[in-house]
Amino acid sequence: MLSIQNLQVNYGGIEAVKGISFDVPEGEIVTLIGANGAGKSSTLRAISGLVKPKGGKILFRGEDITGKNPTEIVSRGITLVPEGRRIFADLTVKENLRVGAYLRKDDISEDMEWVFSLFPRLREREWQAGGTLSGGEQQMLAVGRALMSRPKVMMMDEPSLGLAPLVVREIFRIIEEVNKKGVTILLIEQNANMALKTADMGYVMETGRVTMSGPGQELLANESVKAAYLGT
Ligand code: ATP
Repeated sequence: MLSIQNLQVNYGGIEAVKGISFDVPEGEIVTLIGANGAGKSSTLRAISGLVKPKGGKILFRGEDITGKNPTEIVSRGITLVPEGRRIFADLTVKENLRVGAYLRKDDISEDMEWVFSLFPRLREREWQAGGTLSGGEQQMLAVGRALMSRPKVMMMDEPSLGLAPLVVREIFRIIEEVNKKGVTILLIEQNANMALKTADMGYVMETGRVTMSGPGQELLANESVKAAYLGT
């Protein structure tokens, strides 16, 4: 569904992504893992159109979408749940969800209902200001907002960051549930253990390059992945 070919991202003289290639097949969960600064967020930002790649190609369903603007990317069905959630603190939960559907002109009530059924806690807090939610609830809201654009691919930047283990498990349960509904997922995570358990395919990034790849379960069992990323 998504094909990343020799992608390069530079910031001035800094080479953040040095020519990486990977595919995200339709219906699957793919994860990029790696340490801080490996280039994971830059990869997602390039796919989202938030930074212009220095080189390489991004294909979506066979079409070249490299360098297109973020609105165009969202309208094609690729959405990003950004690191740090970035929800609107002064808007209510419901208003935040409506923002996610800003490009749609059709009826959004069914999707709103779906999001509330995935996250009953958001329904209970529908009129509450986003800024007053807990970290876990804000992450749920960020996922819900992304789903309101009815994405074909949902990209997630470190959804587990700063959350308690129980909440992390809940977020991963929801990722699987959303995926079962047919949404393809590209997930980047420092929580390699949870990410690899959930993913069909995993890619390990180190200083701007992909150094290892394989099915999630295989990487989980790989000795050098264990030593470097799983703390075992
Ligand atoms: P993190 O988990 O911290 O987001 P990451 O693997 O996603 O890490 P990136 O955020 O993509 O890594 O960063 C890759 C490299 O690019 C790092 O060396 C970082 O310092 C640099 N970088 C990222 N954003 C910018 C920017 N806006 N300007 C300059 N350098 C940047």
